[in-house]
Amino acid sequence: MAKRIAIVEDEAELASLLEYNLTRHGYETRIFGGSKDTLKGLEQYKPDLVVLDVMLPEMDGFELCRQIRQSAALGRASVLFLTARSDEVDRVLGLEIGGDDYMTKPFSPRELVARVKARLRREEMDAEPAVLEIGPFHLDRNARRVVQAGRELPLTATEFNLLEFFLTHRGRAYSREQLLESVWGAQRYVTPRTVDVHIRRLREQIEEQPENPRRLTTVRGFGYRFEEPA
Ligand code: CA
Repeated sequence: MAKRIAIVEDEAELASLLEYNLTRHGYETRIFGGSKDTLKGLEQYKPDLVVLDVMLPEMDGFELCRQIRQSAALGRASVLFLTARSDEVDRVLGLEIGGDDYMTKPFSPRELVARVKARLRREEMDAEPAVLEIGPFHLDRNARRVVQAGRELPLTATEFNLLEFFLTHRGRAYSREQLLESVWGAQRYVTPRTVDVHIRRLREQIEEQPENPRRLTTVRGFGYRFEEPA
């Protein structure tokens, strides 16, 4: 199901620019103008994340954030502030306000999408169980360890992330671009070739015959697939 994002921003042009970019990345969005009714609207919409402008016409974003945090219907929503002044940043992240992240105007829509994605991903991870038992693999998210058939794998941080992704997304083919997007996320100074390098290293650890992989297979002309363990 598509994640819902509420855009609370009174500048109509900026609001539709954000809506356009978030929708394009598969999110469901709704724009709120930041009037006194906005809290009620948000409670009905129940967004996963609120993009919240600080300077709103009828109240300030800080006050609205406080109300969001106190609302039973909105308790779990993340809040990403949009601020026009860098000196507001300390307040945004202050405990009494309870924002999760912020962006200072002007910013690129691309950067905002990356932040939204990162935030929602972090939330998903928090909701996931700490230990996974899949076939011969025992993955402990808190300890960031993977034991395969009783032997701990000496994984780098990226190899761990990659294996964790595959263990939780078994049986489906993923392109290099999709893997970059999901595993490397916002830090996109890596190329599709990077994926191949890490796949090869991961195979050396988890395959009996890395040159003839049975678990992490190549999908010709497309990418890779992690086979459901027998
Ligand atoms: Ca504004």
